[in-house]
Amino acid sequence: MPDPTIKTSPVLYFDPVGRRFTDQHSPDSVPLPELDHVLSIADAALDWAAEDYGRFEHHRPIAVARPGCVDDIGAVLRFATIHDIRVVPRAEGHSTAGQAQAPAGIVLDMRGLNTMHRVSADRVVVDAGTRWSAVLEATLPHGLAPPVLTDYLEMSVGGTLSVGGISGASHHFGAQTDNVLELDVYTADGTPVTCSPTANTHLFDAVRAGRGRHGVIARATLRLVPAHTHARCYHLWYDRLDRFLADQRTLMTERRFDHLEGQAKANTTGAWNYRIEATTYFTPPALPAEERLLDGLADLRHAIEVTELTYPRFQTRLSEDVALLRRLGPWQHPHPWSNLLLPDHTAEHIVTETLADLTQTDLGDTGVVLIYPLPLERFRTPSLALPDTPTSFLFALLRTAPQDDPDVLHQMVDDNHRLGRRAVAAGGTVYLGDINP
Ligand SMILES: Cc1cc2nc3c(=O)[nH]c(=O)nc-3n(C[C@H](O)[C@H](O)[C@H](O)COP(=O)(O)OP(=O)(O)OC[C@H]3O[C@@H](n4cnc5c(N)ncnc54)[C@H](O)[C@@H]3O)c2cc1C
Repeated sequence: MPDPTIKTSPVLYFDPVGRRFTDQHSPDSVPLPELDHVLSIADAALDWAAEDYGRFEHHRPIAVARPGCVDDIGAVLRFATIHDIRVVPRAEGHSTAGQAQAPAGIVLDMRGLNTMHRVSADRVVVDAGTRWSAVLEATLPHGLAPPVLTDYLEMSVGGTLSVGGISGASHHFGAQTDNVLELDVYTADGTPVTCSPTANTHLFDAVRAGRGRHGVIARATLRLVPAHTHARCYHLWYDRLDRFLADQRTLMTERRFDHLEGQAKANTTGAWNYRIEATTYFTPPALPAEERLLDGLADLRHAIEVTELTYPRFQTRLSEDVALLRRLGPWQHPHPWSNLLLPDHTAEHIVTETLADLTQTDLGDTGVVLIYPLPLERFRTPSLALPDTPTSFLFALLRTAPQDDPDVLHQMVDDNHRLGRRAVAAGGTVYLGDINP
């Protein structure tokens, strides 16, 4: 639901000369009866729209539109087309580089469009502002779940379908954008179009991973798969990057686990260790066949950690950490993140060189380094920029900058740009961040 603390103010006219919305009539101003109760120019609304999880790009729009129904999306886009105003959809604002901001434009707040329409045997129909946590909550009672869920679920369906949506299940199912059956979209001029792999395919391919630039997703039909009730998670430790990457390749190719991710972790001496996070789902009384899962791996077996969770608890595993980060403050700090997709043959070299120069301080106290493999034959979303190799490694530096230290923040942003350029020069791509680092 729209934030109740954000008060709306009446917006009755558009001033095409001053290019602003206003409640004052003037000879040139255009009345807006169709957008009454949809647009807001209240400071709190404009400030909200100029902020995101990255907290270092801030561009105020001239109005925030809060559609009360999907038809309002069309009304806003049609008006904006006539007056040449840019419209950018935004939902939960977990972007880290201003992707959902609209300098001198209109931000379309999608959060209120969050109706869950129906769950059936292999699909769910939801409005695009629905969070993935709500999707999962609605499908699990039917024994079903979306095949790919991001690590954190409090992001919107429209928001992740606009970037891709990659996770530890992607080595089975590709991106979230590869698991969409149909989309109801408003094109930039406000025309409603239903698109799918067989209808209006050009639009379907442009909007998925289209970063909100080729239309607004109003409603999505998402594929569902049977869900188990439990998850067993194995943390496998390595002190050598080459062995860690080799075992990740084996686990990816053989698809032994349902979910496969990994991290680099600095130990107390500052040296980097590596941790495969491999999870298998099961429904008791059946149990995972452990020997086969771990056979032939080169991890430091004495250091193995095994935990068992319910399936919902596994999928919401970040929620406690997030609650803590919110309480202690770092969640509200700037997050200059770098998410790269590296070609397999460059991964060891780029990761080694990057980590050789990187300390936990460069990441921030709560910063995280993700490394996991993706078989690119499973990805079929044309707008998702991928390396031109059979396998890629996601390499992400999830940095947290101090609250009030612009020098450190700028250094982190510069380091990310340098790393992004290096990755692109080596045939990699930038996922989520600036398109051109
Ligand atoms: C803690 C955290 C964990 C994350 N984990 C993962 C992960 O595991 N895997 C992964 O792939 N990503 C992950 N991300 C990144 C996340 O998927 C993207 O930032 C996503 O876009 C956020 O969704 P949102 O609802 O917050 O979108 P917003 O930030 O509000 O918008 C993001 C983009 O989507 C566009 N957009 C939003 N709604 C629509 C719509 N209805 N139609 C068209 N365009 C729209 C916006 O214009 C913008 O370009 C994570 C981010 C955070 C902060």
